[in-house]
Amino acid sequence: MKITEPPACPHCGDMTKKMEMPMEAAYDGSILYVCFNDDCPYFIKGWQWMWDNYRVKTSYRHRVNPVNGTTGPLPVWSKDAMKDRILS
Ligand SMILES: [Zn+2]
Repeated sequence: MKITEPPACPHCGDMTKKMEMPMEAAYDGSILYVCFNDDCPYFIKGWQWMWDNYRVKTSYRHRVNPVNGTTGPLPVWSKDAMKDRILS
């Protein structure tokens, strides 16, 4: 289902933000809706989860693909990663 408005994050309730994908990331469509709330429990728990499972200091943010409505993790390596790509 195509999404035209930024949906609320199911993890924290904040509105997601429109983000432009990096060129190097192959994706069907160049726009994502991403929760950039630094207090989002999904993002906060991600650091520990990634460390416990992969021993890497990264986390992920909730993202929505507006083309088909699928959701999943967007890997980020810091709090500010990807924030320069926010469009709205
Ligand atoms: Zn959130």
